[in-house]
Amino acid sequence: MTTSSDLRERFTDALMPNYGRLQIALGLGRGCEVYDTDGRQYLDLIAGIAVSALGHGHPALVKAVAHQSATLAHTSNLFINEREVELAERLVSLVGGHAKVFFANSGTEANEAALKLVKRAASPGRHYFVAAAHGFHGRSSGALALTGKDAIREPFGPYGMDVRFVPYGDLEALRGAVDEHCVAVFTEPLQGEAGVVPPPEGYLSGVREICDATGAAFVLDEIQSGIGRTGHWFAHQAEDVRPDVVTLAKGLGGGLPIGACIGLGRFADAFHKGDHGSTFGGNPVACAAALAVLDTLEQEGLLAHTTVMGDLLAEQIDALDHPLLSGQRGVGLWRALTLTEPHAAHVQEQAAVRGFLVNAVAPDAIRIAPPLVITPEQIGVFIEALPTILDAAEAAATKETP
Ligand SMILES: *Cc1c(COP(=O)(O)O)cnc(C)c1O
Repeated sequence: MTTSSDLRERFTDALMPNYGRLQIALGLGRGCEVYDTDGRQYLDLIAGIAVSALGHGHPALVKAVAHQSATLAHTSNLFINEREVELAERLVSLVGGHAKVFFANSGTEANEAALKLVKRAASPGRHYFVAAAHGFHGRSSGALALTGKDAIREPFGPYGMDVRFVPYGDLEALRGAVDEHCVAVFTEPLQGEAGVVPPPEGYLSGVREICDATGAAFVLDEIQSGIGRTGHWFAHQAEDVRPDVVTLAKGLGGGLPIGACIGLGRFADAFHKGDHGSTFGGNPVACAAALAVLDTLEQEGLLAHTTVMGDLLAEQIDALDHPLLSGQRGVGLWRALTLTEPHAAHVQEQAAVRGFLVNAVAPDAIRIAPPLVITPEQIGVFIEALPTILDAAEAAATKETP
């Protein structure tokens, strides 16, 4: 097998530098474990950014993908394919009530579909959008215009869209920003890329109420939170709230690229013929993978397992006492360890050195989003190593700035 250092050089020569210089080259995955191309083993506590919900190489996913690619790998949307119909039916039954689905290939595309859908459904006087500061909705132009991270949005504007940002979780600010000229409010149930930040209790119900009072559409980006990550099919089901549009991607395909935009109620039927499309959207292999994910989550009781494992992880982190660790936040198997100093990059690096893949999502936060099949034993191994990892991160940070 090619060595990791070889691949690092070739990566740098052949790929654009937008991801910076990546250090680890992965070659194999089994369950919650992955191996780099030098054969080093890691416990995967990030799952490809909350994607590989069933872990790696799950037999149900392997079988579904192999079978569908051998049967019919692609149809385009000139034709109907059965997997796409089945998957849409399943998602509709999971959100409940009247709903319809548009399939895309990624999160940002799911949000582009949502953006066009709410514009199509809006009355003529509505012209602006409201989104949350520090929120993340994707990198394509429409989704990026709605993204509240100034550093990644501002260099690529203007976008030709009137987007007004309000502090996340602040219902008074939202009420002040939304009137009868607003097309839609875009928000996340917890802010993933901001560092797994939960809103105050009752936030989503408050957003619903503000949208109802003004007629603005409520678009809930569940791209990271959806499909079991929080212990519910969708994070909003914990609060018993019904958004108008829900977008999905990450965990849905269990590692295959797929996105979905679900319109609820009158938003189910807002697109007219010709309004939107995607050559690959609804691809049978990606849909077969997603069906295998939904079946397996159900058959293996993984929603309840996610809640139990998430609580266990949280409890064990809370029980640790370390000067660099201030606590944890999040829900289900979607957590951030919070640090007392901005040393997250060092923690990520020192964790990898000791065989754990975690993500420095913010300078003072480490995201933990493992496969939903993680065991108590695997959580225990990580918790046992954590004090040493934090010690090493502190030492590395001290060395850097004496
Ligand atoms: C990852 C993410 C996106 C973008 O998804 P891509 O597949 O990278 O385009 C959008 N919204 C949220 C909340 C995300 O976490």
